[in-house]
Amino acid sequence: MRIETLAVHAGLRIDATTGAVAPPLHTATTFEHAPDSTYPRGFLYSRTANPNRNALEECLAELESGAAAAAFASASAATAAVFQALAPRDHVVAPLDAYFGTGKLLRDVFAPWGLAVDFVDMTDPAAVKAALRPATKVVWIETPSNPLWRVTDIAAVAALAHGAGARCVCDNTAATSVLQRPLALGADLVVYATTKYLGGHGDVTGGAVVAGRRDTFFERIRAIQISAGAIPSPFDCWLVRRGLRTLPWRMRAHSDNALRVATFLAAHPRVEAVHYPGLASHPEHAVAKRQMSGFGGMLSVQVNGGRDAAFAVEGKVRLFTCATSFGGTESLLEHRASVEGAATRSPDNLLRLSIGLEHPDDLIDDLAQALG
Ligand SMILES: *Cc1c(COP(=O)(O)O)cnc(C)c1O
Repeated sequence: MRIETLAVHAGLRIDATTGAVAPPLHTATTFEHAPDSTYPRGFLYSRTANPNRNALEECLAELESGAAAAAFASASAATAAVFQALAPRDHVVAPLDAYFGTGKLLRDVFAPWGLAVDFVDMTDPAAVKAALRPATKVVWIETPSNPLWRVTDIAAVAALAHGAGARCVCDNTAATSVLQRPLALGADLVVYATTKYLGGHGDVTGGAVVAGRRDTFFERIRAIQISAGAIPSPFDCWLVRRGLRTLPWRMRAHSDNALRVATFLAAHPRVEAVHYPGLASHPEHAVAKRQMSGFGGMLSVQVNGGRDAAFAVEGKVRLFTCATSFGGTESLLEHRASVEGAATRSPDNLLRLSIGLEHPDDLIDDLAQALG
């Protein structure tokens, strides 16, 4: 079935006892067993499995054409579960340009724990190849990457990883399974912040790991999910599953709006640079066109005049809200360097824009008046 249909139906059934069409919220922590201590209905204790989490995981796996999915309390917990499934002294190749929290987690938590990590420019296959070692177990990619929206050639990096006996894990948060299919391009696992587009309404924090194969590595991630217990609540799962119903249609609208805004900004005299994979000026536009069916709702803009000029725009926007995160219906804007602090690689005059589902002309009018 096609993705729009899966987004509406996957993992959901009419409730057998009430006929409820929308899925009931199951807050029970424990489930009745049979007198012989078996669980004929499949549920034992809510950390182990819960009907709302099962529905979400089934849907996430189907949307990705994957074999299985594990939902977590945040993408950071999902990311940590992948690294916890490795062993001390294993080696990870990770992107220089990636979600700030992923690099921080590797440096602050997993390097002291014993993982060896090299950060490389994932847009340069020669640099990826040079970083691979016999101990390399995971090559982590994130594309388009946050906050410069650089594009990694998933098929090329996955082939390099496999050639070295490593797995390729792709953080697909910015593109989603609607616009980009990492498993089909060779990735082994896909990671999501469901906090962003999958939840889609800025009202739930969550993460997920989706696996192409139900192999021993995924079983380890599943065991970490259950034993370490960084699970999403039933209501979190319910909210993400609800958000997923409209994901394909939202991603198309986010992409259309963002291309309109990016095109406007690229022609504006107060703008130094626009970073959006859908623009012909983007350094990996050709790769993006090949591996994405749309370019997503995220873009960054560097304004003329440095940090103060960026702050001036923040002070003048009316429709955009100055806030972190992305993927909701409302447009957001933030000065990424301020959020990331001293270790940031984000340029001082850069503003990151999450283009929402407002009318694009209203967004353009707001940016026009704010840029002055
Ligand atoms: C937001 C984000 C994360 C972290 O998500 P949390 O749910 O806040 O842990 C990871 N990767 C990417 C690409 C993100 O945008």
